[in-house]
Amino acid sequence: MKFNLSFFLMIIFMILYGSTKKFFLIYLFVLIHEMFHVAVAKAFGMKTDKIILYGLGANARIINFNNANMQKKFLILMAGPLSNLFLYLIFKFFFANKFCAATNIFLCIFNLLPVYPLDGGRIFLLALKKMFGLQANKFFICFNHFFIISLIFLGIVQFFIFMPNFSLFSIALYLTYVNKKSFMDLFCDLYLY
Ligand SMILES: [Zn+2]
Repeated sequence: MKFNLSFFLMIIFMILYGSTKKFFLIYLFVLIHEMFHVAVAKAFGMKTDKIILYGLGANARIINFNNANMQKKFLILMAGPLSNLFLYLIFKFFFANKFCAATNIFLCIFNLLPVYPLDGGRIFLLALKKMFGLQANKFFICFNHFFIISLIFLGIVQFFIFMPNFSLFSIALYLTYVNKKSFMDLFCDLYLY
């Protein structure tokens, strides 16, 4: 496991903000999500690198992911969101812990959004490739831009209707950032989020 500078900045920010307990819980669930991706990849005999923690999330590198077959890719990608779904059910029905349940169902749904580089986006791309072959990448890139622009628009609408609520807008900004940053790994190793 490795820590990015932004992770420490986030810790300082959270200490000042006074919500360290929630912060660590969120990180724990993000980490479990990544560990499930890695565990399934390892079960398929694939090489993995350290999990890197950032201020806003984490990622795990799986070497030569693109050489794996469709079924393996699908299972590796699904492992993360499914771990959050599982945790959601446990916290909802066995512990009745609202915060942990809500965090996990959010992580599950968020990561399944059909946009790059989230797990859902990669699964969507796999499906497109199966259907349209080489043309899939082109369509997928257009769809990504369309999706993020729509989300920014919805975020602005949400801001004005539900006054200081800018959660959708923040999600759109975060996606714009990670999307730009890592589009090119479509063609090499995998960095999972
Ligand atoms: Zn993931």
